[in-house]
Amino acid sequence: MRLKIIQVGDPALRDTARSLEQQEIRSPEIQNLIEWMRETMHDAPGVGLAAPQVGMPLRLAVIEDKPEYLRDLSSEVLTERERRPVPFHVIINPVLELLDEPKTTFYEGCLSLAGFTALVPRSRGVRVNALNHHGEPVVIEASGWYARILQHEIDHLNRTLYIDRMASRSFMSMENYLRYWRNRTIAETKQWIGWS
Ligand code: ZN
Repeated sequence: MRLKIIQVGDPALRDTARSLEQQEIRSPEIQNLIEWMRETMHDAPGVGLAAPQVGMPLRLAVIEDKPEYLRDLSSEVLTERERRPVPFHVIINPVLELLDEPKTTFYEGCLSLAGFTALVPRSRGVRVNALNHHGEPVVIEASGWYARILQHEIDHLNRTLYIDRMASRSFMSMENYLRYWRNRTIAETKQWIGWS
């Protein structure tokens, strides 16, 4: 089933999300929600989706960066962003630890801010303690693009959107990103927009 992804301004995106108990995670309600969020994320398409984005105030997110999403990107882009495929998985009640300063800057988008993008500084490496879809504890160590996805999704569970962290002078429509900025380096872009 495809769920409705709510857009910025919907109060649910700023709602406090609650943790889930292990028993509840194994319930048909939550297992169905996970499956529907997976289908909704694939359909969008996106590399992550947090429960508040479908109007559910729960500390749960799904993530998957499929090999086919990387197919049309140049090897320079993939290397620069440290982007590698990530298999489908669920994070529940995650606790995020940043392993370095949030100084790695790339364009980021969000399914709840459809049609826009901006430069967002993030930490290159993170450690996440969470529960998986069985309610079992997992520790995830991630770097590069996967670390960015984790920070973005966990932000959603903490009532935070990328626009709260972005370099505001770089905020733009996706159309203009593709038209003017896609082939410029981040350094060139920073200089042009007057952000250093
Ligand atoms: Zn998002």
